Amino acid sequence: MLHRIELDKTYLLRRKVLIGTCCLLSIIGLFLGIFNLLRAEASPILATFELIYALLSLILMYRALNKRHQEWEVHLYVYSLTALIIFAIYIAELTNFRFCWALVIPILYFLMLGKKSATIPTSILLVLSVLDISVKSEMMFSSMLINFICSYLTVWIVSYVYETNRENSEKELQELALLDPLTQRYNRLALTKQFQKISTKPNASMYIMLLDLDYFKDINDNHGHEAGDIILQQCAEKISLIANHHYTFRIGGEEFCVIVEATELTQALVLAESIRQQISQHEFNFEDQILSITLSIGVTQFETEMTLSKALSQADAQLYEAKRLGRNRVSY
Ligand code: GH3
Ligand code: MG
Ligand code: MG
Repeated sequence: MLHRIELDKTYLLRRKVLIGTCCLLSIIGLFLGIFNLLRAEASPILATFELIYALLSLILMYRALNKRHQEWEVHLYVYSLTALIIFAIYIAELTNFRFCWALVIPILYFLMLGKKSATIPTSILLVLSVLDISVKSEMMFSSMLINFICSYLTVWIVSYVYETNRENSEKELQELALLDPLTQRYNRLALTKQFQKISTKPNASMYIMLLDLDYFKDINDNHGHEAGDIILQQCAEKISLIANHHYTFRIGGEEFCVIVEATELTQALVLAESIRQQISQHEFNFEDQILSITLSIGVTQFETEMTLSKALSQADAQLYEAKRLGRNRVSY
């Protein structure tokens, strides 16, 4: 079930906010559109735009509910909302306080688009609303204008700080979810993601190595569990130094997996042999003792359409062979 875990919470959050906003704005648009059509003194153009926007909201909500909405559609939706609000403010008297609508915009745009993309429409709305208020109030700095600017900027800053913190904590949580706490190497979930990423490339070519420490139970039995943990940490560090941190995964107690993105078998075998040799020659330190350990490696080649569990079970069969032949060896 690991591959079903969705780590991209930003996508989920933005989709939910989009659905909620579309739902709300379709109701508000429909209500205001009909209300303005019935009022003789209201603008029929604005009423038409409001009804069109309500329809647009319904269509986008339907697409988002089916996860078929595209990024450009959300941008189009946001810019049309900006244009609609600017138009509504422009044709209204100041005493209508229609510019109050602009104040809800920063938080909405930051949640829907993220920091980078929200900045432009948020700025456009601020500049044009400020222009409109100062022209209509015939004053450069009316108290109404100052109040508007201050409250708009406050909502903007709070939205910015909130979104920055949300993005950072999401990044931290993602890293935590992908790291093994004992060795600080990537875990099985990270392997699933990396495997998916590589295997879906056109002409994907990779080798999967399964590494298992030999007679590791004896280390625990003879020197204690803590010694076992320290050897695991040092081993993991060494393997990831040789193989590359982003391609080394701890997938079980004393089992690691290394992915080699290569086209030639010899590249994978040379790397496997290098890991085997360097680990067997390494002097591991635990308290004042020097311990040594060996590992066995099973290697398999990825073939098109192969699943991760299939690749791992093939590599495991090779690993079993390496163990059977006496350990401290590479089997392909
Ligand atoms: P083989 O060469 O056949 O692989 O022998 P082995 O002793 O390594 O294999 P076995 O699977 O019998 O034992 C693995 C041991 O690894 C058993 C378990 O106690 C130990 N182990 C698994 N995870 C950890 C861990 O996080 N810390 C420590 N200290 N030991 C662990
Ligand atoms: Mg094992
Ligand atoms: Mg073992």
